[in-house]
Amino acid sequence: MTKTISGSRGLTIEEPLLFEQGSPEQCGVDLEEPPAVVDRLGGLRRKAPIGLPGLAEPTVVRHYTRLSQKNFGIDSVFYPLGSCTMKHNPRLNEKMARLAGFADVHPFQPESTVQGALALIDLMAHWLKTLTGMPAVAMTPAAGAHGEFCGLMTIRAALEDRGETRTRVLVPESAHGTNPASAAACGFTVDPIPANRRGRVDLAALKSKLGPDVAAFMLTNPNTCGLFEDEILEISEAVHAAGAFFYGDGANYNAIVGRVRVADLGIDAMHINLHKTFSTPHGGGGPGAGPTVLSAALAPFAPLPGVIHDDTGFHLVEHAVGSGRKPCGRIKGYHGQFGVFIRALSYMMSMGADGLRQSASDAVLNANYLLARLSSDLTPSFEGPCMHEALFDDRFLKDSGVSTLDFAKALIDEGFHPMTMYFPLVVHGALLMEPTESESKETLDGFIASVQGLARRAKAGDGELFHNAPEFTPRRRLDETAAARSPVLRWSPAGGNGDKK
Ligand SMILES: *Cc1c(COP(=O)(O)O)cnc(C)c1O
Repeated sequence: MTKTISGSRGLTIEEPLLFEQGSPEQCGVDLEEPPAVVDRLGGLRRKAPIGLPGLAEPTVVRHYTRLSQKNFGIDSVFYPLGSCTMKHNPRLNEKMARLAGFADVHPFQPESTVQGALALIDLMAHWLKTLTGMPAVAMTPAAGAHGEFCGLMTIRAALEDRGETRTRVLVPESAHGTNPASAAACGFTVDPIPANRRGRVDLAALKSKLGPDVAAFMLTNPNTCGLFEDEILEISEAVHAAGAFFYGDGANYNAIVGRVRVADLGIDAMHINLHKTFSTPHGGGGPGAGPTVLSAALAPFAPLPGVIHDDTGFHLVEHAVGSGRKPCGRIKGYHGQFGVFIRALSYMMSMGADGLRQSASDAVLNANYLLARLSSDLTPSFEGPCMHEALFDDRFLKDSGVSTLDFAKALIDEGFHPMTMYFPLVVHGALLMEPTESESKETLDGFIASVQGLARRAKAGDGELFHNAPEFTPRRRLDETAAARSPVLRWSPAGGNGDKK
């Protein structure tokens, strides 16, 4: 392709930094020189110029607008990132969250003036408890990982209350990295449990590792291979028999919501990522939330604060004294991610019990459609149908000189967000695809056509295409390791790395 003179490609504008677009000598506005003032800053007056570029408003507006257009998001493209559940966030949720009565409340307002907001938190808690069959829920965790932390802190408090010191947490090899990280953050040592040939927990290996020093076993179900742990009842029985607690990672709850009651699986604590199952925006698109449902054994140890309801109305319990509770502590300021609760509740109530149940069915159906249509060109890692995500490994790329990473980069050129790569670790060169239920058959067919076409090109020896990908993005292949290990966080006028030693 010939290079353009400007470096831009049509509407893909080559975007310099603001520091490169303006200079400290310029001024973006017309201001008179201020009259001389007496310096009252003592010795604290800045000695060197601040170095900020002077820019006019339209330049700044265009810069940020164009940067926003470079975002790859669920609102612009199909985003089959496995385990992340990038589903559509219905705009009704946004409309509800913007109602002034919700949007304008402040966490320091007197309780009597925020009864509606507290009622909303209580209602959300009610439906989470009803869906899971669990007696209690801690609403404050701000993400899935934070919910894991909350659950493990609660487990630790319960163990201490029993006068027990248990130091080990067992975690399957296929677990999300946050599981061992949360256990370590709570002061436990982590012991991995291998997967069996069917991609599930190796029950015999788990039993052999259980002992009086095991505090908890953490399990994701369906697991990160997209498979239902069909021996979960034997697992919970063995874990409880050893005196340990059973933690459920509920990040994949979208595959079973309305169909499986968490309490029936013998789970003691499980976080629910509202930004996954209940469609609220993820991370950069808005904070998430990870309410953590708790069994009767753990309920007294839930963190504060929590909302209760009595004859006099709704109250936020901030202190343990007189509450009959033995909280594990406080894990977050205020009430939790209130804006996320509004969106998630709006989603739940507009879907209804039948709609939530159907969303789980459709998520599983869509994933199995991908699995079935891609099975002859790619190599599925395990036999049989999957739950909400389809897992392939890199055997189909053998001898092609193309890696999972190359394949993912080529998908970017096709206009799709790549699937999750190299995770879970239990299969080689993993490609994990989660379509979610909010995608149409037409979207999935378009994605399938691209994946099939790329697989065929890789096998036909078109390695060049893959090694050069992505070709049509504003930037090509980046050194992701260097970007993570030595990020350039400061601009310096010399055009160099301001942070370089
Ligand atoms: C997303 C995810 C988490 C972590 O949730 P966050 O909300 O991103 O902190 C944990 N476990 C699994 C299986 C996940 O997919």
